[in-house]
Amino acid sequence: MSRCSECSRELKSVEIALTKKLVNRGATEFLCKTCLAGRFRVSEGTLDEKAREFRDMGCLLFTELPEGEL
Ligand SMILES: [Zn+2]
Repeated sequence: MSRCSECSRELKSVEIALTKKLVNRGATEFLCKTCLAGRFRVSEGTLDEKAREFRDMGCLLFTELPEGEL
């Protein structure tokens, strides 16, 4: 299981997908939702919405995530 590169929290696959989408597609270090929200100055709820938007747009990083994570 990967961990957040800032706070070391265990990551969900949606958080890894969000890091790839928002930071860098080739990222090898990932951020949890809390740290991503801090970096982009948005709420965690906004990130949840974004993740669902990306999935609905057919982004492959998100369409294969477990249903419970979105
Ligand atoms: Zn973190």
